[in-house]
Amino acid sequence: MKILADTHTHTIASTHAYSTVIEMARAAADAGLEAIAVTDHGMRLPDAPHSWHFHNLKNIPREICGVKILYGIEANILDLDGNIDPLEEEIYKRLDIVNASIHSPCYSGTGDDHTSAYLSIVNNPFVDIICHSGTATYPYDYERIVKLAKKNNKLIEINNHSFAVRKSSIPNCRRIAELCKEYSTGIVVTSDAHICFDLGDYTKALDMLEEIDFPEELIMNRSLKTLEEFFEEKGKPLFRWQM
Ligand SMILES: [Zn+2]
Ligand SMILES: [Zn+2]
Repeated sequence: MKILADTHTHTIASTHAYSTVIEMARAAADAGLEAIAVTDHGMRLPDAPHSWHFHNLKNIPREICGVKILYGIEANILDLDGNIDPLEEEIYKRLDIVNASIHSPCYSGTGDDHTSAYLSIVNNPFVDIICHSGTATYPYDYERIVKLAKKNNKLIEINNHSFAVRKSSIPNCRRIAELCKEYSTGIVVTSDAHICFDLGDYTKALDMLEEIDFPEELIMNRSLKTLEEFFEEKGKPLFRWQM
């Protein structure tokens, strides 16, 4: 099983990441990737770029070192109502990949059930992918959200980085993947790379998927073509924001 289009990566625009777009593209080319999405943090996280970063993404060439570049954001899920960083709707509509994640520094939801936050997110028309949601701190009704994700054309991320930095989430990631298999919900496998050297290694996530005999056809970013087909079918073709 191979992953050729990484939908979750960071550049120095997020200050706790350490590579430029060019370094990321070059490393992606070396790793044999076809595409990467540049998805720096939404403005509410303390390390994030100014909103102008997202307004201006079209200045990045669509191909660098032979690797296609997708414009994106890792938006923050801000509360139990599922609000995300306040960017103009126009910008959210233009971005190829809108990831949505809970990050503790800017999430105000409390209690021991975060289903309502994810329910709003899975109904948010701008969001494409629900990221690293296996985090043990923020449990939710996985079955309900995975089913609704399928219905609403959202993808669920299996984040390879979580296997290293969010170890307590591993059993939850497995459970989420099992449910995606059961309900035929599409997933993406990503690096969430914060430095170029982390691109192209999806081993831990793929090992887990292999263990549960996860169907390859549900991994939508196994190639750029399959990712493009998914977004085309949902009426939001990639690469539509041109100079
Ligand atoms: Zn994140
Ligand atoms: Zn990230």
